[in-house]
Amino acid sequence: MPRFLKILVRNLLKGPATDPFPFQEAFTPDRLRGRVVLNPDLCLGCGICRHVCPGEAIRLEPDEGRTGYSFSIWHNTCALCGSCRHFCPTGAITLNADWHGAHPQTDKYRHAEHHFVPYLRCAGCGAPLRPLPPGIAARLYAHSPLDMTQVVKLCPDCRLTATAKREGERYGTTANPG
Ligand code: SF4
Ligand code: SF4
Repeated sequence: MPRFLKILVRNLLKGPATDPFPFQEAFTPDRLRGRVVLNPDLCLGCGICRHVCPGEAIRLEPDEGRTGYSFSIWHNTCALCGSCRHFCPTGAITLNADWHGAHPQTDKYRHAEHHFVPYLRCAGCGAPLRPLPPGIAARLYAHSPLDMTQVVKLCPDCRLTATAKREGERYGTTANPG
């Protein structure tokens, strides 16, 4: 039998080598870089994700009353590179395994995720504040004299001041802000 006939018969017996998508779900590797999602509770509003995004798919805009900021991810321009996840200091932005993002061009503005992330107020000075996620605070302030419940409620300036005061008390000196 000619060789090509052998291959033809073998392939006919084996059946299709590809997934029958869309009639059945296709294989998805565990670490696939799919849709970008935000966990607003962990977001600090630092903007690093926006800064590193090559597709300009991330937008952060403060609201006029400084009560928070809007955070948008435009899936249509996302290149699924994963840089935002890699550089986010808190793990607030991730890529899940959802790759079902194909859509007609006319739907491009619907393929987006919008959040409003509210500010809290610093317990010391009242400045707008995104609280440090407890896991991050515990790592950053592992050797701090401050209580962790206090750390997450203070802005960076008030954290410095409170740390200086506490150190002053500990070593019997008075912190001199001037
Ligand atoms: S998602 Fe991460 S990198 Fe982006 S603003 Fe929030 S904390 Fe910063
Ligand atoms: S995966 Fe890449 S292109 Fe997509 S939002 Fe993140 S940084 Fe931007």
